[in-house]
Amino acid sequence: MAKETTIRCSLCNRDKKDVKILIAGVNGHICDNCVTQAYHLIADESVANENSKQQIQNSLNLLKPAAIKEKLDEYVIGQDDAKKVLAVAVYNHFKRIAHALKSKEKEEIEIDKSNLILVGETGTGKTLLARTIAKMLNVPFCITDATVLTEAGYVGEDVESILTRLLQAADYNVEAAEKGIVFIDEIDKIARKSDNPSITRDVSGEGVQQAMLKLLEGTVVNVPPQGGRKHPDAKMIAVNTKNILFICGGAFDGIEKKIAQRLNTQAVGYSASVSKEEIDKGNLLQYVSPQDLKSFGLIPELIGRLPVLTYLKPLDRAALRQILTDPKNALIKQYKHLFKMEGVKLEFEDEVLDLIVDKAIEFKLGARGLRGICEAIMTDIMFEIPSEEKAPKTFTVTFEYAMDKLKSAKLNQLKVA
Ligand code: ADP
Repeated sequence: MAKETTIRCSLCNRDKKDVKILIAGVNGHICDNCVTQAYHLIADESVANENSKQQIQNSLNLLKPAAIKEKLDEYVIGQDDAKKVLAVAVYNHFKRIAHALKSKEKEEIEIDKSNLILVGETGTGKTLLARTIAKMLNVPFCITDATVLTEAGYVGEDVESILTRLLQAADYNVEAAEKGIVFIDEIDKIARKSDNPSITRDVSGEGVQQAMLKLLEGTVVNVPPQGGRKHPDAKMIAVNTKNILFICGGAFDGIEKKIAQRLNTQAVGYSASVSKEEIDKGNLLQYVSPQDLKSFGLIPELIGRLPVLTYLKPLDRAALRQILTDPKNALIKQYKHLFKMEGVKLEFEDEVLDLIVDKAIEFKLGARGLRGICEAIMTDIMFEIPSEEKAPKTFTVTFEYAMDKLKSAKLNQLKVA
């Protein structure tokens, strides 16, 4: 039989005489210090888990699809179909994460990820929608451009670099990044150039699409923390993409032709769901289907991993006019606020707002151009007012004033904006 003095804690090896209590088990002993430490570890872990569960539950309770859409309405004009689809997808995404947390132990049905693809002309609000959703949910968000990506081993960025940006947006908090939202712009630019799979290497098109598959589906990716090329010695951060929501956007120039072709052939068949007369030719994008994306050059595997497809309408004159004044951080509101900080009340004649919209349409700049045109009108006065001895109480931008400024502005510069 062992002597009493040799009994020690099996975990920390402390002698019985150095501890208050030593609890005996079948094959060993544990001291009160180790019990206390273990208790705190378990408590911290379950608090962290509870917090994360609670956060997701709160998001679900607070943001039902209708509430998400309402919030989007505050920032984004029109695009009701896209907002609805996006709201449902985001709501389901969070439900899926909550469900996964609850059924960790049990083998329950796994809900598929609802990555999205938004099709619409440039400057119609695709990025704005994704950014607004991320802000609303308070999750890390990053934007990346599919055109800079190349297949691993070629000049350009590897697809992992997407996650480097997300990590940076999350201040390197891996757990937060793993629930973030990634917006991949210009996804149409990595379309296969011809419908036949090429025999030569296609480093910027199909190769990138292939490289993106795992990322979109959910996998553990080793991410270089600083981005750039992978280096054999660089320390990598493992990021699981299972709960990251990917939203892809693209203009898909010319896809209307493919939609029209499909609708035409369908409309004469027996199983036509939309009759030829019902087709709204002015807005063919609303009929976009995965098949059209395939004809455009996206590979079926990629389309399969972006199961939610929606479209954004081109912005008409009325929408552009609203964008100037209505959203929560509308341009005109921003200028008014800037002037208010100088103690000046800023007013715009209605004709000025129409003029700004006219110019944006004339230069084919869409909503993206509104800012440049406003700057051209406002720069001089924003330069002068802060240093004026006696600034006016009110400044009204009249039609003549705006015309005058636009004439002297380098309008050609705006065209490239
Ligand atoms: P894209 O569709 O190319 O991603 P963005 O979302 O980047 O376009 O839009 C560019 C800018 O135009 C935005 O910052 C925003 O100010 C404005 N904008 C575009 N569409 C809308 C919209 N539907 N509602 C409000 N602002 C919009």
